[in-house]
Amino acid sequence: MSQVQDIVIVGAGAAGLTAGIAAAESARLAGKELHIVLLDAAKRFAAKILAAGGGRCNVTHERITPDDFAGPRNLIRNVLAGFDVNATIAWFASLGVDLKCEETGKFFPVTDSARTVLDALVNRCRRLGVTIQPQSRVQEILVDLPPAAPATFTIRCEQDQWQARRVVLCTGGKSMPSTGTTGQGWQLARQRGHTVTDVHPALVPLVLAENFWHAEMSGLSHEAQLSLSVDGKRTQQRTGSLLWTHVGISGPVVLDISRHWVIAHAAARKVELHCNVLAGESFDQVEHWLTEQGKMPHRLVDNVLASRLPRRLADKLSRLCRITNDVRAGQLRRQDRRALVHTLTELSLPVTGHRGWDHAEITAGGVPLQEIDYRTMESRKCPGLYLAGEMLDVDGRVGGFNMQWAWSTGHLAGLAAAKSLLQP
Ligand SMILES: Cc1cc2nc3c(=O)[nH]c(=O)nc-3n(C[C@H](O)[C@H](O)[C@H](O)COP(=O)(O)OP(=O)(O)OC[C@H]3O[C@@H](n4cnc5c(N)ncnc54)[C@H](O)[C@@H]3O)c2cc1C
Repeated sequence: MSQVQDIVIVGAGAAGLTAGIAAAESARLAGKELHIVLLDAAKRFAAKILAAGGGRCNVTHERITPDDFAGPRNLIRNVLAGFDVNATIAWFASLGVDLKCEETGKFFPVTDSARTVLDALVNRCRRLGVTIQPQSRVQEILVDLPPAAPATFTIRCEQDQWQARRVVLCTGGKSMPSTGTTGQGWQLARQRGHTVTDVHPALVPLVLAENFWHAEMSGLSHEAQLSLSVDGKRTQQRTGSLLWTHVGISGPVVLDISRHWVIAHAAARKVELHCNVLAGESFDQVEHWLTEQGKMPHRLVDNVLASRLPRRLADKLSRLCRITNDVRAGQLRRQDRRALVHTLTELSLPVTGHRGWDHAEITAGGVPLQEIDYRTMESRKCPGLYLAGEMLDVDGRVGGFNMQWAWSTGHLAGLAAAKSLLQP
């Protein structure tokens, strides 16, 4: 392609599409037109938007703070302030996507369909004249440095090459690589002087030892409190829904704590995971409750537990403590009761691994935020280059936080790239 583009955006996922729209809209507002092209490696770009939230796309969350993310708090706060939840909701409304807030605080499109979100983004790109070119995997980004100022970038794909005055990198991380995210974006960032931290799968289901009994519980889900210990010291605690699977455990509480297990394990630290199936209740509280239940002497222990836990799990935990199905709460000896309380509140989960990049929702690690100007998302290593989305070393918990990161950073990057070209 001989014509020099104003902006080439590499990666047409959540961050890239947002950057394209923000850039084109700001040019329109200024009464100008910019040539903007989005290049994406995949045939079906933005596949993660469609996969998000079980096909409903959890777009954002009613309350977002830096504590919802792993990464440098102050920088994250500043970035999110640049395009916050309210701005995001208003922006989606302007795209024709009305959002609803559910009891959990998660925002979804009122249609309950991720397709609504993707269609709106793509349609707005089309209407603004932003070109989207799928099946264009970028392999190299070169800079024609001054004195040929302002710097021009050469963007080399497998088949062709482009020139651009500004480049926005939105290539995602390594999670779910079948969608096109192979981690190549970090190579492009490195070419332009950036560092990349170690990267790990995060928001990823965990695998339990083969001889454990998780498969018997497969499909069951319940509230749980997970505690992670590293080298004998309790470092993380999360509460939420746990799902038993045929290979281990999943569900929001597991996904949220998984990054900490994965990173500590990769560093060869001793990591242990314990589960309190009566989330939030201490040993003493549970013992008191069981003692009280014993005052109704005819109640079976299994039934007492099943009043608060799924029946299958209640029975299993009783059997683990060698309490047969005919034992009544009033018959429990103190030491058996305490053993049962221990199992209920400190169940040891023998984690042996995680399900890998194919099952990870996000990447922990990436380009350090310190290498980016948080106001504009412009690279501090390479002027004219902008970075946004999952490729940065910031990852959020389950609940719409990662999408919000993509919308916020994509918006700031697109806006700033356009502004730098529109300024007289
Ligand atoms: C199953 C699943 C469910 C999820 N659900 C939610 C949810 O409900 N809410 C939430 O907040 N987050 C969710 N996430 C996380 C969320 O999808 C990501 O945070 C978000 O998509 C990141 O956006 P991005 O634009 O940075 O990267 P991506 O969406 O990954 O887009 C990157 C794009 O770059 C392209 N690309 C990569 N390398 C190149 C290259 N060299 N040249 C050209 N193009 C390239 C890829 O093809 C891809 O289309 C989910 C993730 C998964 C996997």
